[in-house]
Amino acid sequence: MNNARQIAFGYSTRCNIKCDHCVAAHDGSPETKMALRSAVQIIEEMSRSHVTGISFTAGEPFLYADDMNELVRRCKKQGIYSRIVTNGYWARTRDRSDEMVSTLKNSGLSQLRISFSRWHQKNVTREKILNAAWSCQRYGLDYFISFVTDFEKEDDAQEQFLQDHRLKYFPEPLIYFGNATRIKQPPVFTDYPAHRCAMNPYLSPDQDMFACCDAGTQFTKTDAFYLGNLKNHSVDHLFQKKEDNLLFHLIKTMGLTAMASFLGFRASEIVKYRKCNLCEALFNSSDHLERLKKSAKTELLHWTR
Ligand code: SF4
Ligand code: SF4
Repeated sequence: MNNARQIAFGYSTRCNIKCDHCVAAHDGSPETKMALRSAVQIIEEMSRSHVTGISFTAGEPFLYADDMNELVRRCKKQGIYSRIVTNGYWARTRDRSDEMVSTLKNSGLSQLRISFSRWHQKNVTREKILNAAWSCQRYGLDYFISFVTDFEKEDDAQEQFLQDHRLKYFPEPLIYFGNATRIKQPPVFTDYPAHRCAMNPYLSPDQDMFACCDAGTQFTKTDAFYLGNLKNHSVDHLFQKKEDNLLFHLIKTMGLTAMASFLGFRASEIVKYRKCNLCEALFNSSDHLERLKKSAKTELLHWTR
């Protein structure tokens, strides 16, 4: 059902800044960190379980820069593609940035993903983002900027900055969970998107594994996306659990919009939802979840054109 095994690896939820839109290290969430020895063992087990890509994320991974380099080296040794998601705070000067990036390149990092938004940039200057991106260009390390936006007009100036400096960037819609629940949601202006998701799991520093790395970790009414803890189960078992779940498979293939329509949501209602909010309406509601589960192998599976 799902042959490519990739995972978002939360080594620590600690961060050096506090973004008003943060989902991962939001106010009130505990600061936790995995032991380096456990992380190394998990990476080795992931390699045996055919995991091909690891994205180190959660808080700010470079608060533990030496550990990150060690984990990246382990990924390289095991033939696993590695990515680190960072806010770029460390790129204070060109020299400092070059030193960090060249070390990562030598350790075998596959890609650096640098976060950028009007919320991040209240704490990290745009010059640091430029330093980090330019160091990647100089040392031949693949990178991209993750431009988090709520598509408000004021973000045009941020995007213009990225364009003016010819940086490689991809817009990422703001997810209204964690701290971002306090941010006013502008209305959605779009047609009828399918809302399909890659369904790459997330591993927390406490070794809890979830079927998705975004808002799905916070569906606490049903715990629909919780797979189990690696202290009690193997990597292979938890991946298999996700891959055997027909509803997760349908999120990837059919998409959430068709599932909502199947449940009787009106089209005019569906288009008002953002993707993760629609997912919450389906999967963090016992009633909707039960109905989806009951029909997953029958009517829902055949709900195709
Ligand atoms: S940099 Fe990332 S992890 Fe840190 S507060 Fe901002 S959004 Fe959260
Ligand atoms: S829509 Fe659901 S599966 Fe997709 S990213 Fe959001 S929470 Fe995860």
